[in-house]
Amino acid sequence: MTTGIWVLGDQLWMEQAALQSCIEEKARSPVILIESRNWVQQRPYHQQKLVLVWSAMRHFAAELRQAGWLVTYESTDDFATPLNQWVKANGVTELRVMMPSDRPFLHLIQSLDLSCKLTFVPNNHFLWTDQEFKQWAKGRKNLLMEFFYREGRKRFQVLMEGSQPTGGEWNFDKQNRKPPKSKLKTPTPLWFEPDTITQDVIDWVKSEKLSTYGKIEPFRWGVTRQQALQVLDVFTQERLPTFGPYQDAMVTGEETMWHALLSPYLNLGLLQPLEVIRAAERAYYQHDLDLNSVEGFIRQVLGWREYMHGLYTYVDDDYSQRNWFGHTQPLPEFFWDADKTDMNCLHQSLKQVENLGYAHHIQRLMVLSNFSLIAGLSPQEVENWFHAAFIDAYDWVMQTNVIGMGLFADGGILASKPYAASANYINKMSNYCKGCGYKSGRSHG
Ligand SMILES: Cc1cc2nc3c(=O)[nH]c(=O)nc-3n(C[C@H](O)[C@H](O)[C@H](O)COP(=O)(O)OP(=O)(O)OC[C@H]3O[C@@H](n4cnc5c(N)ncnc54)[C@H](O)[C@@H]3O)c2cc1C
Repeated sequence: MTTGIWVLGDQLWMEQAALQSCIEEKARSPVILIESRNWVQQRPYHQQKLVLVWSAMRHFAAELRQAGWLVTYESTDDFATPLNQWVKANGVTELRVMMPSDRPFLHLIQSLDLSCKLTFVPNNHFLWTDQEFKQWAKGRKNLLMEFFYREGRKRFQVLMEGSQPTGGEWNFDKQNRKPPKSKLKTPTPLWFEPDTITQDVIDWVKSEKLSTYGKIEPFRWGVTRQQALQVLDVFTQERLPTFGPYQDAMVTGEETMWHALLSPYLNLGLLQPLEVIRAAERAYYQHDLDLNSVEGFIRQVLGWREYMHGLYTYVDDDYSQRNWFGHTQPLPEFFWDADKTDMNCLHQSLKQVENLGYAHHIQRLMVLSNFSLIAGLSPQEVENWFHAAFIDAYDWVMQTNVIGMGLFADGGILASKPYAASANYINKMSNYCKGCGYKSGRSHG
């Protein structure tokens, strides 16, 4: 009897549940990681996303070997061929996989014709299990995030003094909506130079021409847990202290403002949500930081991130096809080429996505989604674009954010009203309208 483990590309954590289930027999439990060309050709992924995931997988495979695991790494067309060869070569009788976060990937694994028993181990990358979320949601009239978040604060004892929230309030968001009136001095993000593994992946993605969307270089994202921890460290020291006040602000040429830049690492498993939350909480107590900034950040990870995941596991399978308003306009070409729009807010946000695979939350919500909603674009086309274009995109986080929060295509399961705003909002919260050919106070046909 030999148990083998298949580590998926977004499960890159030594303590992930499938690896942990075999930790006592690690010398006798072969591990496999697979890059599949067929899988990534379903949509035109941002080239940096391909580099990020594959480079992080290759680095993680090396770390596993160093830790004493017997690792096979395959880069092929499909998943079934290398899996079955490896199963045979290693005499694997049971294949263990940590439950995938994305439903389409679960269905893919279930459809594979495998020559051994397949076991899914419950996913330990989120704070709330599917069952716990279901339990919380059961019987509620509405599933407002704010109540879920408060439950999380109590359950994990984060920013709590006994049964009361630190500072006497659960939420300090009112202090976090400052418009960028004056010239702001924003912190410099921590970026990395590609090492030889990453450079090999960059060269390979270029030569295979797997996608042409997005600039592949300069590639500056971290690809290891150690680098992700450095980003977290720099965040808590240099960005968290002033994370709050300008959280909703947008400024021409400013790609990241005070945002954390942690989602690519959290979503790959290089960082875990609770360690990120605890790091922010520790910084609050040790450095006497402003509560509106720290609470505002913790709400994103303990509240929004867990809530979006929980909801994804809770809603029906047809959620991705929802279209409450019956919107059918096709996605404009400029989503794939920012130079084809002269509306400055769109141009700035789309250009940034081409360069980095990243835009911050308010650009995603109040520029890209807001435009898509009020222009009546098909929710499914918009969701497909977001999934393709963003470095941190996965099905579990995309469906609820785009179909639910961004476009209200689920009819209000998630949001109490659509996030639809005129250019007045953009003009108030950014300097994008300055010099833009479209006048914010006027309607354009
Ligand atoms: C239309 C739309 C699409 C989005 N697509 C994605 C996506 O593909 N992947 C993704 O991780 N997030 C997505 N988000 C949520 C959010 O915008 C990003 O998590 C955030 O911008 C990532 O940048 P950051 O790490 O600098 O975040 P910060 O603004 O610094 O926030 C800190 C962390 O909170 C978490 N977080 C905050 N809001 C959310 C949310 N709504 N859902 C999930 N996590 C959240 C993230 O892990 C993030 O790293 C989307 C939001 C919208 C409105």
